[in-house]
Amino acid sequence: TYVVTDNCIACKYTDCVEVCPVDCFYEGENTLVIHPDECIDCGVCEPECPADAIRPDTEPGMEDWVEFNRKYAELW
Ligand code: SF4
Repeated sequence: TYVVTDNCIACKYTDCVEVCPVDCFYEGENTLVIHPDECIDCGVCEPECPADAIRPDTEPGMEDWVEFNRKYAELW
């Protein structure tokens, strides 16, 4: 899965939402989030993010961000 990280805080761009083929972006408290079970790992959103906030969960230290994304995505 890809995850939204802290660079997204208060970001006003939604370029990522527009390109996602499975509509797995949701609104969190002050960031967007990606539902980790719905993301198909296509990666098209990553270069669209002007804040460089979208990272693959294969990078080190992403476990907490996966849970953060899941928490808010599941509120919907
Ligand atoms: Fe959507 Fe693909 Fe980004 Fe996952 S990697 S959130 S499926 S655009």
